[in-house]
Amino acid sequence: MGLDYLDVANQNGLNHLSCGAPVVLADGLYGKDSILVKAGPLLGDIAVASTIHDAPAMVVCTHTKGHINSGYAGALKNLAMGCVSSRHRQHGWKKGRGSMHCHGEMGLRWNPEICTFCEQCRNICPLHAIDFKEGSFVVDENSCWHCGRCSRVCQEGALTLPQDDETFQKSLAEAAAAVLSTFQKGKVVYVNFLYEIQPECDCMPVADVPVIQDQGIMISDDIVAIEQASLDMLKASPPLPQSAASEAGIKPGEDVLFRLNPRPMQLQIDAAEKLGLGSKKYELVKIEP
Ligand code: SF4
Ligand code: SF4
Repeated sequence: MGLDYLDVANQNGLNHLSCGAPVVLADGLYGKDSILVKAGPLLGDIAVASTIHDAPAMVVCTHTKGHINSGYAGALKNLAMGCVSSRHRQHGWKKGRGSMHCHGEMGLRWNPEICTFCEQCRNICPLHAIDFKEGSFVVDENSCWHCGRCSRVCQEGALTLPQDDETFQKSLAEAAAAVLSTFQKGKVVYVNFLYEIQPECDCMPVADVPVIQDQGIMISDDIVAIEQASLDMLKASPPLPQSAASEAGIKPGEDVLFRLNPRPMQLQIDAAEKLGLGSKKYELVKIEP
């Protein structure tokens, strides 16, 4: 599993030679090296990747983009999903990233009435956890980490992973706060890349045509301020032609990310401010190249 990640990184030009530093899998080769950290009322404890937990300082580099579940995916989501293990050694997905995607005991729901048996869900599952046996959908609950990729590719709506938007957004802030609680104050800085803005998450298998004109790079030591500034800038940016935005008929002046994925994305930033991670007030200082 971990070696697959290193292969993908290498295929995308990220290795110790190009980075000038080792490329490290923060939760180990098997994705099980994590430490439970207190998060909050929604998540309880969460499995923070050991290398992140033990790091003395961190530069959080984030490609900002749209997202089918969160609407906007920036530094908060990068910390929440990127620094938390997919599953915990003892508690499995319930203390990992899947606990943000779906709460409690909820799991995948399959509707045989509308399933066309196209098997796209089966093919996209990174863990090969899906099978169709005797005309019935079967998921290996021991392997599944509740990422929701299979439900996202289902064009028929036959496969769903029930969740509520508000809880998901607030869970992201809670998990990000848990990750940051492992660092001393002032030891984390954020770099947001407002480039090649995709309509969907970078974990999807292919890149789409960017939906918003490139806006530049933001740097801050306040995660709430940089997220608010990034979201505001993307909201005010015009859609690009020949993209999913133009296909959806989105006009200049409209909020492209919200139109593509109508989710209450502001909630994650509001929740982060309430948790004391920073302030939504910001001042943009432009540095021309
Ligand atoms: S992607 Fe949807 S329609 Fe296709 S096999 Fe899976 S559940 Fe059925
Ligand atoms: S939720 Fe993720 S891990 Fe589980 S079956 Fe679907 S694609 Fe596979």
